[in-house]
Order: sequence, then C-alpha cells, then structure tokens
Amino acid sequence: MNIVLLGAPGAGKGTQAQQLKNDAHLAHISTGDLLREAVAAGTELGKEAKSYMDKGQLVPDEVVIGLVKERLQNPDTESGFILDGFPRNSAQAIALDAELADLDKHIDSALLVDVAPNVIIERLSSRRVCSACGYTGSAKDGATCPVCSGPLMQRDDDEPETIKARLDVYAAQTAPLIEYYRGQDKLVSVDGDRTPEEVYGDVKMKLHLS
Ligand code: ADP
Ligand code: ZN
Repeated sequence: MNIVLLGAPGAGKGTQAQQLKNDAHLAHISTGDLLREAVAAGTELGKEAKSYMDKGQLVPDEVVIGLVKERLQNPDTESGFILDGFPRNSAQAIALDAELADLDKHIDSALLVDVAPNVIIERLSSRRVCSACGYTGSAKDGATCPVCSGPLMQRDDDEPETIKARLDVYAAQTAPLIEYYRGQDKLVSVDGDRTPEEVYGDVKMKLHLS
C-alpha cells in the first residue's frame, strides 16, 4: 500500500506515519526529515534548503523531487510507503504520479489529517522536539525528553513569524492537493483534533487495516 499524507504543518502527520510504519510495514518518507538531515550533515543541498526552511518557504521543487525520486529507489519501498510532507504543491504531485508510473506503481490513498487553523497555531508554537531521539512533544514536557532524557528544543521554523508563513504556503499551495486527490477518488479524511490514539483508530479503519 502506497499512501500520501495530507494536512497542515502540525496536524500530526508524522505521528500517524510512525504508527502506520510499525503496523503496516511501510517505509516512512518524510521530506522534512530528509531535508533536516541534509542541513545537519552540512551538504550543499542542505545549505540551500536551510535558507528556505528558516523562512517557512518551500524548498525548490527540483531539489525536493530529486530527493524523493532517489528515496523511492530504496528497496524498503517495495512493500509500500508513506509520503509525509510530499507532495506540497501541484507540480510535485504531477511529478510524483509520473515517477510512480515509470516505476509501475501508484498512490492508493491520500490521507488527510484534518485540523482547524487555530488549533494548528497553538500546537506549533508549543511544539518541542528531542534533538537526541526525535521525540515530538510540547512545552508541557519541560526541557528534558521523557523518552531518553535528551534536550527538548523548539524547531527553528516553529517561531511565530515562520509559523504564519508556513500556514500561508499551506493554504495557497498544499491545500489544493485535497481536490487533486479527491478528483482521483483517493481522498480519505480523518478528524485530527483528537488524541493521537483516537486519530489512529480512525486511520486504521478508513484504510481497512483493522
Ligand atoms: P511541517 O509539516 O511541520 O511544516 P516539515 O518537516 O514537513 O514540517 O517541513 C519543514 C520545512 O521543510 C518546510 O517548511 C519546507 O521549507 C521544507 N519542505 C519539506 N517538504 C517539502 C516539500 N515537499 N517541498 C518543498 N519544501 C519542503
Ligand atoms: Zn529523546
């Protein structure tokens, strides 16, 4: 099964992807994570990407499409994959469909994790991530990771102004993909304004995993 995750930044796509990865043995492909790895590694691609990410803008299509194409070559995608954070505009969606057709694959479902904008702003401004193990929590967790005791930090792009820019980009460029996938009869929607467990129960049901 090949899935695309849709939803605003902070909707909880990563959390649902992690669960799906474990239960359905799907490869988790997060373009945000791939880009942050490139930034941390200090590669040329990472340096270019960081300037866009810090402003809350999209990294240029050719960079991100290249990363995804390369990642789709990895044999772990054979039993299915979840794309998280990609596609983010119609050019990326069209490039993805073309690449998958070349690989004799296709997207089965586009899963929209639906959360209202005011909830999103609240979540992103209190989001904290562990720089050691990748745990995602909130300001309520304090300064130390509950999983590994590493330091919990705010992501550079979770600053208020950058949040605003990311939500504007989402509304203008990414939200229209909901119609793109609805038009292909692939859209599945879940209410993301519930606990991660409740959302996941619904995800499993709607993807016929339970
Ligand atoms: P979020 O969904 O919380 O905004 P991500 O980790 O998915 O966070 O992405 C962080 C940043 O990485 C984005 O704001 C953007 O700059 C860049 N990025 C991630 N995926 C893409 C993509 N498919 N196309 C362009 N830029 C991307
Ligand atoms: Zn940790």
